[in-house]
Amino acid sequence: GCPGRLPELKGNIRVLCRLRPGTSSSLVSVEPGPGGTVTTCYRGRHRRFRLDWVFPPDASQEEVFRELEPAVLSCLRGYSVCIFTYGQTGTGKTYSMEGPPEDPGIVPRALQSLFREMGAGRQHRVTLSMVEIYNEAVRDLLAPGPPERLAVRQGPEGQGGIQVAGLTHWDVPNLETLHQMLKLGRSNRATAATAMNQRSSRSHALVTLTLRAATPPRAPGTAGTLHLVDLAGSEHPDGARRLREAQTINRSLLALGGVMAALRAHRPHVPFRDSQLTRLLQPALGPGTTAVLLLQVGPRETVCSLKFAERVG
Ligand code: ADP
Ligand code: MG
Repeated sequence: GCPGRLPELKGNIRVLCRLRPGTSSSLVSVEPGPGGTVTTCYRGRHRRFRLDWVFPPDASQEEVFRELEPAVLSCLRGYSVCIFTYGQTGTGKTYSMEGPPEDPGIVPRALQSLFREMGAGRQHRVTLSMVEIYNEAVRDLLAPGPPERLAVRQGPEGQGGIQVAGLTHWDVPNLETLHQMLKLGRSNRATAATAMNQRSSRSHALVTLTLRAATPPRAPGTAGTLHLVDLAGSEHPDGARRLREAQTINRSLLALGGVMAALRAHRPHVPFRDSQLTRLLQPALGPGTTAVLLLQVGPRETVCSLKFAERVG
């Protein structure tokens, strides 16, 4: 159980912030906890940002997950949840999301928590897919063959449905199988990263779990979905050779910010179509869903990240 911490499940967006160890207190000072603040000092100028939760540099993986667990478990009741790690390269996005084997992060903890909650006599059918978005190209990280580029299509009108043609969905009968598949997906991503110099910091990685009740309590076929998204670094890569990359990465991150800001302001038009990332996540970001943005802050420049959080949260 996770008493007292259920998020409000009404299209809300929570913004949490985690400071990486080594972040200098002369650059950033924090008031940790719920409704905490981060104050940045840049060239003598102070700026204070308030967030839904602030984790200090010594916060454990467990403490971070504790705040996310209610949202994760709500997927078993048919909700859609998106959890993002956002920040510059080196600020700890992958550490928070994956974590080292000896200190697992959000993905392994979420899977364990879900399978524990489902119990031995599982009443859900769980499927897994994993994609990478790089330069606005969507690739299947769990395809039986080499990762192929996929087309993202609009589904039936009015349903906000998105169809990713040919995307592999694996049935996962147990936690061991799930971990093996994640390992495969990660290694497929790493292979691509090596082939294309540091690509992983410039691509978005999405792990998606679908939890379909085998014996539906209410509406038949109601599926909960959990998207765990390790976003591309939010910095601007330098060098003209990478201009195209810089533009497309920023297009996806910019589009995410635009979508979240529009949802937050209840604007009638939400620009989901502005990027592959937001198109893919459209069904998971609409009304009745929960999004959590874990903003990672590191030793260097942080104001841009906090401004992003201010805009969306
Ligand atoms: P990103 O994915 O944002 O580029 P990483 O997750 O790769 O950043 O983190 C950069 C480095 O900092 C890694 O060596 C990682 O192990 C370390 N690191 C990040 N966050 C923490 C933390 N909370 N505790 C210990 N080490 C961390
Ligand atoms: Mg990373």
